[in-house]
Amino acid sequence: MFDVDTDRTLVAAADLVNTGEGLRSATPGLDQLTTVTQLKEYLSSRDPALRWPPSGADRTQLEKIQHLREKVQQIWSATPIKSDAPIQVLNELLRGVGLKVARGSDGEYRAEPVPASKELADVMTASMATAIQHLVVRDETARMRTCKGEGCDAVIIDLTRNRSRLFCDFGNCANRAHVRAYRARQAAHRKTFSTAPEAAAPVAHSSRHAVAHSDTLDSPRLVKPSAAEKAAQIEVPTSQSARAAKEFRDRMRDELMEKRDKKSAKKLKKEKKKAKT
Ligand SMILES: [Zn+2]
Repeated sequence: MFDVDTDRTLVAAADLVNTGEGLRSATPGLDQLTTVTQLKEYLSSRDPALRWPPSGADRTQLEKIQHLREKVQQIWSATPIKSDAPIQVLNELLRGVGLKVARGSDGEYRAEPVPASKELADVMTASMATAIQHLVVRDETARMRTCKGEGCDAVIIDLTRNRSRLFCDFGNCANRAHVRAYRARQAAHRKTFSTAPEAAAPVAHSSRHAVAHSDTLDSPRLVKPSAAEKAAQIEVPTSQSARAAKEFRDRMRDELMEKRDKKSAKKLKKEKKKAKT
């Protein structure tokens, strides 16, 4: 999306935040960065082009990197950045970081950070702070998100061209959300066609209301979105092509789910018949 080095650093930053304690796809996850061994595991699964060698990990670096994680997490929870508070945190990370022009791993010239020292934590801090700075000055911090899955605090970095990434890779967040949306659409459909007069208000209305509400809400994004808010946002694609794609996906999914429902209804009937005989 940006340049290869910035992209992979942002992915590494999201992965670092996600080593923290929290809900991952509705499952409680423990802190995955409490020992030097765990830090080495995190470093070994990085892209080698980052040049963050696991051999640089020790107790001192672990503590510094835990501190870095806390700061990056603070910035992430304040995105999209509209105020100075997260910028101050970012500037703290950038303290002592220099700048030079060098060829990136793709051979292109670009501005590269010069870390305060060669210590692992300083190298990581310089890279991450510079990558986040890149998003801030381009007004792209909305790409630093929290997964929209219910019961999920995982952070994601959206590097897609059309800003379409909504879910993490931890579990089945996307699937669970789609099933929920399908059930909601079915309920709305049933309500619309039901004979009860007060049942005429379709679910779509309430979700539209929720979106309008969150749109007018101009508070900094430090508050975790509720499950209902998350579900409402999923239902509102931004661009026209995204809308068309979503409609198509919804239709396909509905057809698939209908087939599945029919199949299980048939099976149930068969089983009932069997039980009778
Ligand atoms: Zn998730």
